[in-house]
Amino acid sequence: MCLNKKRTTNHTVSTRLTLWYALFSAIFCMSIFTVVSVKMRHNAQKRVDNSIKTELGEFKRIYEQEGLGELQEEFRTETEAQGANELFCRLITPQNIPLATSNTNGWMQLPEILQNIPLPKDDRPQFNTIYPAESHFNTRMGSAKTADGNIIQFGFNLHSENKSHAKIQRILTIGSLLLLILNAISGWVISRRAMSGVRRVTKAVSNIEKDSLDCQVSFGNEGLEINELVNAFNLMLSRIQSLISEIKEVSDNVAHDLRSPITRMRGSAETTLTGPQEIEAYREMGQTILEECDSLTEMINTTLEIAQTESGLVQISYTPLDLREILTTAIELFEPVAEEKQIRFLSDLPDDPLIIPGDKTRIQRICANLIDNAIKYTPVGGKVSLRAFNEDGHIHIEISDTGPGIDPTEKERIFDRFYRGEKSRSSSGNGLGLCLARTLIHAHGGTITVQSEPKKGSTFIVIFP
Ligand code: ADP
Repeated sequence: MCLNKKRTTNHTVSTRLTLWYALFSAIFCMSIFTVVSVKMRHNAQKRVDNSIKTELGEFKRIYEQEGLGELQEEFRTETEAQGANELFCRLITPQNIPLATSNTNGWMQLPEILQNIPLPKDDRPQFNTIYPAESHFNTRMGSAKTADGNIIQFGFNLHSENKSHAKIQRILTIGSLLLLILNAISGWVISRRAMSGVRRVTKAVSNIEKDSLDCQVSFGNEGLEINELVNAFNLMLSRIQSLISEIKEVSDNVAHDLRSPITRMRGSAETTLTGPQEIEAYREMGQTILEECDSLTEMINTTLEIAQTESGLVQISYTPLDLREILTTAIELFEPVAEEKQIRFLSDLPDDPLIIPGDKTRIQRICANLIDNAIKYTPVGGKVSLRAFNEDGHIHIEISDTGPGIDPTEKERIFDRFYRGEKSRSSSGNGLGLCLARTLIHAHGGTITVQSEPKKGSTFIVIFP
């Protein structure tokens, strides 16, 4: 029995898939958003740095070629053109004393802030970002050394850059949110569609009545996986169906096999009790009841042995056995039975021993069952032959007879528990012989097959590794 701990959940697979889909979309959108944002900020800064560098180069040229006065004039022109709040320009000594400066009235505490900005040590311009007091916007500034050791500083208010960056960030945020919602909706729709096949199969399976297990779930066009699921369900249904009919047949056979001896015992007891009260009649009744009890016990024991061997409960002791010796003993045992039925019993055994690892009693039972069947089902005057040989390290036993043969429709079933062929019901037996033989052969790692032609005879082939 398979006990599965039942784990209940209120979330449908669609909901879970949608949540996962939304989560991955959110992670994806946020990653794209971050990468784009960082890249844009980096590019914008590079652009600003380049224009600062150009301005610094121009200021340097004017100062070095045209003098301090021209530089001051250039500062003024530049400030007027762009607006005093947008930029600042300064020429300072290495001791931070301003020599020329643009109108910095709008730049609160600029001298104090610039006091802490490190000055360039070589000819390469140096860039810094500063945060002027009472300004929401940061400022990018550059400093460059002139030929006489003074330093030109040029700062550029980034508020328009920041504004456009914030605008793009807003667009990206709204776009990401829309994409997230769209992804969640499409995830929901896709998962609902994907699950529609599962729902259809569930509905079809729950509609199957317990007494109509021969129904099959129909295939749809939801995809290969769903069709595989349908196929698995249909296979399972067929298997359950065949198991149920097997159980039904076994119980019918058991009922029949139990009813017959019980009826016989009852009949015998009834006849004895109602007939003349003679000691001989009672002795006969006792004899009949003993025989019937013996055959019932044998049937129960065989059924138990099959069940225990199949489930691996029986420990088979593997010792090296000479199969030729076992077969010789069996032939000697069955020869008188064959003779009685005027059946020619031929054997062909090799000179060398046929060694297999196995359980002696069980191997003897396999051989006895097969020889017994061959003689039992062969009519008077027929022929039974037994052959054993070693081929490629495998030991073969072939038992052929000239009996009625086995109908092709019965071939698969003769090894089933309690199965008796249609034509064999009149002869003695309980339908367990071949089932036990096959179970024991399998337990020894061997195989058993049958070749048969109706009205011509059958050959049972056993191969041990
Ligand atoms: P039982 O012989 O008691 O009926 P078995 O399990 O030995 O049970 O055999 C099952 C069925 O297989 C038999 O009822 C018979 O129909 C068929 N069978 C077995 N051996 C032979 C044989 N040698 N020739 C023809 N039919 C056979």
